[in-house]
Amino acid sequence: MTLHNSIIRQSNPHLPFGDRQDGTYYGKNILSVKQFNRADLTFIFEVAHEMEEMVRRVGTFDLLKGKILTNLFYEPSTRTSSSFTAAMERLGGSVIPINDVRYSSVSKGESLPDTIRTLECYSDVIVIRHPETGSAALAAKYARKPIINAGDGTGEHPTQALLDLFTILEELGHVDGLTITMLGDLKYGRTVHSLARLLTLYNVRLNYVSPEILPMPAEVIEEVNAKNISQTVTTDLAKVLPETDVLYVTRVQKERFEDPEVYEKVKGSYVITPELMTRAKDDMIVMHPLPRVGEISMEFDSDPRAAYFRQMEYGLYVRMALLALVLGKA
Ligand code: ASP
Repeated sequence: MTLHNSIIRQSNPHLPFGDRQDGTYYGKNILSVKQFNRADLTFIFEVAHEMEEMVRRVGTFDLLKGKILTNLFYEPSTRTSSSFTAAMERLGGSVIPINDVRYSSVSKGESLPDTIRTLECYSDVIVIRHPETGSAALAAKYARKPIINAGDGTGEHPTQALLDLFTILEELGHVDGLTITMLGDLKYGRTVHSLARLLTLYNVRLNYVSPEILPMPAEVIEEVNAKNISQTVTTDLAKVLPETDVLYVTRVQKERFEDPEVYEKVKGSYVITPELMTRAKDDMIVMHPLPRVGEISMEFDSDPRAAYFRQMEYGLYVRMALLALVLGKA
């Protein structure tokens, strides 16, 4: 990365992904879905397809040989951290895994900027998950290397939204004209915050179904409204299920509740069962960022509409594409 580029990024950590003064995606941060336009998505998904083909044909190849990624996780993760690891290793690179910050200098009180300054000495890109909203942007402010937001508290999870969109395209072939129903904990679920924002690049209808105390935040609703996207808020899944093309289920985010009793009251509000799904279309899909903790019954897993396990695999190809892009190799 040139000094010039790093200065641009430091002074403006929200520099749009698509706003490529230097004509490439090299060195860019991925902090929020707000950075992307449709041309970016088309390009990222084209690269993701190439990655899929290469993985099927040769498994592992040397596009990022010699490059190192740091996975810096201040919150638990199974899919995001392991898919970034797999993505980097499939591309011939290697990984510094910090999956439990209790065993790093964070537990000695080290600040996020100092941890980032340290890790960028040893790696070419940093993937960060942190409980505070805005933490990835803060990290990017201090970093000279690309920062990828893998979930900042209840804020955003942009790479999940990209893989969610890729899943919809792969499974249904298009996004325009679809009715997408987001179900569950829409207040604390960062994946739906990112996905609703990203879908505003398309002509869709959004339904938000949640317990009354876990609504989609007003801030997200206003942003989506400003893009003239139709939004319906309800607690009644049965009302919107028959018209739904994509049912995006989320778990109630136990770790965000101050009062465990409140969590216990709302956790079982919705359960997707084969019987309930007789009321849905035949050509719709059910997605979930996972982990699930009871909101989709295992009896539904064998239904062809259950796309949540395929969704995980799509994530590998999208994350491979993103790493290749920000490291200047796609
Ligand atoms: N794995 C997703 C996330 O990190 C969804 C979840 O945890 O419920 O946001």
